[in-house]
Amino acid sequence: MPRENYIGGSWRPAKSGRTDEVLEPATGAVLAEVPSSGAEDVDDAVAAAAAAFGEWSAKTPRERFEVLSKVADAVEADLATLADLEIRNVGKPRSIIDFEMDLTVDNWRFFAAGARFLEGRAAGEYLEGHTSFLRRDPLGVVASIAPWNYPLNMATWKLGPALAAGNTVVLKPSELTPLSALRLAEITQDILPPGVLNVVCGRGETAGASLVAHPGVAMVSLTGDVATGKVIAKTAADSLKRVHLELGGKAPVIVFDDADLEAVVSTLTEAGFYNSGQDCTAPCRVLAGPRLFDDFVASLTDSVSRIRTGDPLDEETAMGPVVSADQLARVAGMVDRAREAGAEVTTGGHAREGAGFFYEPSVVVNPAQDSEIVQREVFGPVVSVQRFDDEDQALAWANGVDYGLAASVWTRDVGRAMRMARSLQFGTVWVNDHIPIVSELPHGGFKQSGYGKDMSIYAIEHYTEIKHVMVKFS
Ligand code: NAD
Repeated sequence: MPRENYIGGSWRPAKSGRTDEVLEPATGAVLAEVPSSGAEDVDDAVAAAAAAFGEWSAKTPRERFEVLSKVADAVEADLATLADLEIRNVGKPRSIIDFEMDLTVDNWRFFAAGARFLEGRAAGEYLEGHTSFLRRDPLGVVASIAPWNYPLNMATWKLGPALAAGNTVVLKPSELTPLSALRLAEITQDILPPGVLNVVCGRGETAGASLVAHPGVAMVSLTGDVATGKVIAKTAADSLKRVHLELGGKAPVIVFDDADLEAVVSTLTEAGFYNSGQDCTAPCRVLAGPRLFDDFVASLTDSVSRIRTGDPLDEETAMGPVVSADQLARVAGMVDRAREAGAEVTTGGHAREGAGFFYEPSVVVNPAQDSEIVQREVFGPVVSVQRFDDEDQALAWANGVDYGLAASVWTRDVGRAMRMARSLQFGTVWVNDHIPIVSELPHGGFKQSGYGKDMSIYAIEHYTEIKHVMVKFS
């Protein structure tokens, strides 16, 4: 498999000759070396994407649908290799990988079909003697900047809608997890015309920053941290590029006293620790009702303490490592500070000794609403539990963070579920569930979780500009 940048249909090292090491989180060993790209590599990639734009954007929706359907087929045919890359490079257990692989194929099929459903919403005579109609035009070269937690799936959420709408793309995968993006370029090199998809490896502050500042880029689409989103939005403002930001989350799980306790505990044990909790919608912040609280904490603690952690390649493993030594230190530091501030860690709470970046699945009980562990994204295998007094307090605490990506409400009272769904300031609200997503429906944030939607027809629309054409006929 190539370990070089993919630019204009060919494989090239960074012009500087520099490389970055890619590590395997389960062992800490070096897995690969990839180009550490700089501004000169980004220039080449943007030029290749710009050169390909005319022909790609002129294809009919059916033609783009046919090409992107072949991409979906190629991804599906290569799932075993792609899954292995994600398992080794991110530390995902083999036992959980099928879900995101299946979603990735379905996302490609959805975006392929979506190419045929773009529409302008008006055509007619709005002024006497003139016919108006609306076009949805692609923007040009899109810079897609992806995170490390679901490398292939997040790249798909960036590439699918951009390409379906007729744009060409320069993708910069995370420096921690670039391998599946390179494989995607390899398996689509005979499907996508040269320059339509370019992959440039490198760090955020070098390759990423050059892409965002590049005058040839029309739009920047980032999935990443809130702080990165702010830097990118500021830089993009200099040339007024369109910005699409899918940022962090701190999803509340509001468990009322009438909730099905067993169902909540089971969902939290699975979804809260899925991908080692490195998920922007992870149910990580439980607000539990006063009568159910003690039973809930006991049951969750017991269930979480039995999560099987270890080698991602072992079929019995439910949770692997976190992605890096830095991430491990971040998680450990946040739990230590919560403990020092008076919260109780009822299970877990330590890094594992030895090789690899493992942290125990952990439950942190009774942190204060204004504490770091409630207010900031941990992005690790840690669920906090707070006790609320009534519905008003639950809502205020749920909304009382900077993030607004996803939330869930657990109750048998339909009226209460409806009141909460209306008032929660989050891009997705689940009732009596947490985490399911589908290609047809949008995923995205309120507040500092960003703007622009992923998946759904709204994502494809965001990669277009509306144009009004007025024709005088009298
Ligand atoms: P990150 O912000 O550190 O990095 C994301 C990407 O941005 C990487 O490719 C990185 O190289 C690049 N980058 C960093 N600094 C940059 C700069 N100055 N200019 C241009 N590019 C730059 O995020 P991460 O640690 O890779 O991913 C975890 C974060 O992603 C978490 O906050 C998580 O919540 C978020 N996330 C959000 C969603 C969502 O849909 N909202 C989905 C997955 C992950």
